[in-house]
Amino acid sequence: MEAKILHERKKCIGCGACVALAPEFWRMSSDNKATLLKNKIESKKDFDINKQAEMACPVNCIHVVEEKTKSNPKKAGEKR
Ligand code: SF4
Repeated sequence: MEAKILHERKKCIGCGACVALAPEFWRMSSDNKATLLKNKIESKKDFDINKQAEMACPVNCIHVVEEKTKSNPKKAGEKR
C-alpha cells in the first residue's frame, strides 16, 4: 500500500481533528494550523487513520491519494 497526503494548509482552521486521529503524521503549529510531518503512507494502518482524518477535517483540506505501485502491475497496466 502506497499513498500520499496532500494538505491545503491555507484552508486549515486548526480544529485539531487530524492531530487527534493521526499524531504520527500531524502536529499543531504555533500559528494554530496543522502541519503535516510526513506525506508518504506505506501501511494500511497509516492509510486508514489518515483517511479518518480526511473525513473528519471540517474544511476538507486533507486529501489522501492512493498511488499505483509497481508491486501491483495488474492495476497499473490494466487497460480493459
Ligand atoms: S482536521 Fe483539517 S482543519 Fe482541522 S487541524 Fe487538521 S487540517 Fe486543519
